[in-house]
Amino acid sequence: MSPIPVASLRDLIEALAEPVLILRADARILMTNKAATACFGEMPADQDIRILAPDDAVADDLTTFVRCCARGQGGVERTLSLRGARSAAGFRCRGSVIRALDGEDLLILRLVEAPVGPAAATEAELRRLNWALGAYARSSEALIHSDNLDDAMDGICRAIVANDVYALTWVGLVEPPPSKSIRIVAGAGRAISYLENLELSWSDAAAIGMGPSGSAVRQGRPHILRDALTEPSFAPWRDQARLFDLRSSVTVPFSRGDEVIGAIAVYADRPDAFGPEELGLFEKLAEELAFAIGLQEARARLKAAEEARRAAEEATRETQAELTRVARLLTVGEFASSLAHEINQPIAAIMANSEAALRWLARDVPDIAEACAATQRTIRDAKRAGDIVKRTRAWFANDNPVYAELDINDALEETLRFTQVEQRQAEVTVETDLSPARPRVLGDRIQLQQVMLNLIVNGIDAVKDNADRPRLLKVSSGLTDTGEVLVSVEDNGTGLDPSNTERLFQHFFTTKTGGIGLGLPISRSIIEAHRGRLWASGGALGGALFLFALPALTSPTLASPAQTGAAR
Ligand code: ADP
Repeated sequence: MSPIPVASLRDLIEALAEPVLILRADARILMTNKAATACFGEMPADQDIRILAPDDAVADDLTTFVRCCARGQGGVERTLSLRGARSAAGFRCRGSVIRALDGEDLLILRLVEAPVGPAAATEAELRRLNWALGAYARSSEALIHSDNLDDAMDGICRAIVANDVYALTWVGLVEPPPSKSIRIVAGAGRAISYLENLELSWSDAAAIGMGPSGSAVRQGRPHILRDALTEPSFAPWRDQARLFDLRSSVTVPFSRGDEVIGAIAVYADRPDAFGPEELGLFEKLAEELAFAIGLQEARARLKAAEEARRAAEEATRETQAELTRVARLLTVGEFASSLAHEINQPIAAIMANSEAALRWLARDVPDIAEACAATQRTIRDAKRAGDIVKRTRAWFANDNPVYAELDINDALEETLRFTQVEQRQAEVTVETDLSPARPRVLGDRIQLQQVMLNLIVNGIDAVKDNADRPRLLKVSSGLTDTGEVLVSVEDNGTGLDPSNTERLFQHFFTTKTGGIGLGLPISRSIIEAHRGRLWASGGALGGALFLFALPALTSPTLASPAQTGAAR
């Protein structure tokens, strides 16, 4: 017999009508059922079975019987005198051994007051119950070891018919109205073909709803079909059942909460094959099946929720990446002219140096040394132009941030260079106050420069309409006493509404014609991805002040009080 969980044994023996004791191999009591307690009084666990013997001779006989059974030797049935509430009568004891999941052999001792019927009948009954117990143990095992519900249900069906005692078994799930059918989801047994085209229903309006499975599902109670040949409600299936030699069956419904969700049915080839004992076992099995279905459904719900969360996360990431790309393209226009200006310089130098080299070579006495020097300068400038192109390409291709140590002043100065043309066109005076400590951070250069570019271009936009006052932009860097690098971009432009600076960071908030309202929210998400903060406030110049703080890589040195104050 397959191993069986000890916890399941209690329900199993309570399902049996007669007194049952489960003993360990050393004759100590493991558990007893209510019928045994009623017969012998309370028997504490771990008590020696000998307490039930009226004298030493009987006690020895009993212990020997227990040991014989435990070793799998000797008969499985013996008459013993046991001390009970109903006197020290001769009880007939039947022993059988099962193996618990932890590997321990346990003896099931079932007591009958007097031998009943001819020995052959007793033997057949015992065998029948043992089969049922075996089917139960194998089914429980199938439930425990299956990864998914389909396998578990298949495993249960195969386990029940494994020893060929039962001709057929199936598991069906209840379909809601209007169909009200019972959908068979697993089945096994030599009569499996009986299930082909089998129609089952739990509707009380149809004849096929009045049979064993319909009644079991509707009433939420097991149904025993004693004889398929005579039972009137079985008429719709009788001919088919006769073909497959099916004579009796038990159908046990199982529920989720108060709602019946399915049924398990077992068929035998003889009438009256199912008594209260088998019924108890299959009821227990149906309970476990319902539990497994509940567990599986909970798992499926959890998995679906997890997948939905992942998909949402992925979608957010994709949207964010897309927005970043869009914002980068939008800034192209802003600094394309600066770029052209920047790249023109090395190209002009290349032209000049190449012409100089040619002149040195064209002399009557070519000056090779000067020609070489001019060519070296050409190579240097070509490299510079190449670097600018490379950096530009990186700017557009940068989807995955590459974190590296970077000098924040360098990055700011380079970004200011990008916007020289805009500065000149808007006639903006840019003042810089960069920390001499040259603060460094760990970050993606291109992303951080995109933030700087957004703040600087916004500042330039904000001062464009200053008609009666100079247009000022102040860019600063510093280190706070809490170990952060602080960058601020301040202007004397239109200024911000101090009661609602947060809405500037909402996607698509813009006050500009042709604005898109993505620069600030994307800048904030970039800074936050760098474990920093980006915020806005009114500045001392009368316009807006935008600041961002990032964890500094250097050990913090004391910042100036003004910078520290600005970080709050
Ligand atoms: P866009 O520049 O496309 O409008 P942003 O997200 O960069 O998108 O800016 C959103 C809004 O924040 C701007 O439309 C403007 O109203 C306001 N804003 C940003 N920077 C400043 C600033 N320096 N001075 C005044 N208002 C600003």
